Amino acid sequence: MKFCSECAHPVALRIPPDDNRQRFVCEQCGVIHYQNPKMVIGSIPVWDQAGDTRVLLCRRAIEPRLGYWTLPAGFMENDETTGDAARRETEEEAGARIDLHGLFSMMNVPHVHQVHMFYRATLLDLDFAAGVESLEVALFNEASIPWDEIAFPTVGETLKCFFSDMRKVREGASFGFHAQDIFKPIWRPD
Ligand code: ZN
Repeated sequence: MKFCSECAHPVALRIPPDDNRQRFVCEQCGVIHYQNPKMVIGSIPVWDQAGDTRVLLCRRAIEPRLGYWTLPAGFMENDETTGDAARRETEEEAGARIDLHGLFSMMNVPHVHQVHMFYRATLLDLDFAAGVESLEVALFNEASIPWDEIAFPTVGETLKCFFSDMRKVREGASFGFHAQDIFKPIWRPD
């Protein structure tokens, strides 16, 4: 941040009185510009046919990680709920309509100032299509997922947890909730 969004005066980085970390402070109007993590919300859109569980992934048409595969997800907007955000991002990036189920994963990514959350979801039909931010969208089962070409660690971890839970669900268990902290800048499959 270079300029105050209130008065356009240049801001300075310093620790305000009674605070303990550096903030962008306007030297002219005194406003302290707090910066906090952003929420990235997505879905795990599932199509299950005769026990073959497939998940819809999008190949990114934009940076970062252009050409890599991701679950449909994006920044939450003001005035919407996390559920609204998951449905909207799935529609925008994958042209897909879903029924939303439980919250499945929550991943802290402190080094990029983000929290990622993914909901389980069911595809309502197979009329999906790549949105402007996707090169293509396709269904993958666990064996066909391009594990080496996953865009983000949070997506890879969420997919690993999902297929692991799926095996337990087939034996009568319920899906879990998976909270993780991801510090590594680059994620690799095991
Ligand atoms: Zn100002």
